[in-house]
Amino acid sequence: MTPELGPASEPPRARFTRAARRAGVKVTPQRLEIFAEVASRTDHPDAEGVFRAVRERLPAVSLDTVYRTLWLLTDLGLITTLGTRRESVRFDAGTSLHHHYVCTACGLTQDFESPALDAIPLPESVAAFGVPARTQVEVLGLCAACHAESA
Ligand SMILES: [Zn+2]
Ligand SMILES: [Zn+2]
Repeated sequence: MTPELGPASEPPRARFTRAARRAGVKVTPQRLEIFAEVASRTDHPDAEGVFRAVRERLPAVSLDTVYRTLWLLTDLGLITTLGTRRESVRFDAGTSLHHHYVCTACGLTQDFESPALDAIPLPESVAAFGVPARTQVEVLGLCAACHAESA
């Protein structure tokens, strides 16, 4: 298997299984289902959103299990979290380099790619903070639905 498979090129269940085995983490049907749900979403759901969706297929799952699994997936590097905001933390299955358009009214966060923003030059003052690994830009505004509602 090629080591550098992009996130979209390998089915989520296979990706989870590979990462879990490497880290010595147990592969359970609940964990597989929770990761498959996050991987299928482009709306950066919070834990409750994931819980509501997987509960239909896993009636025995608890919100607490969903929380713990989401943080486990984060530790495994399979998903990332979006910066702390007034609402609860949102989870992001897009682990390749991308940027965010964040609706300040409803919190909907959408991905976009931009090689120009990936390569944005940082001010020298940033060097005092440490060693930057990547640059992720957050554009704030209203989403199309909230804009239509406010118009
Ligand atoms: Zn919105
Ligand atoms: Zn994202």
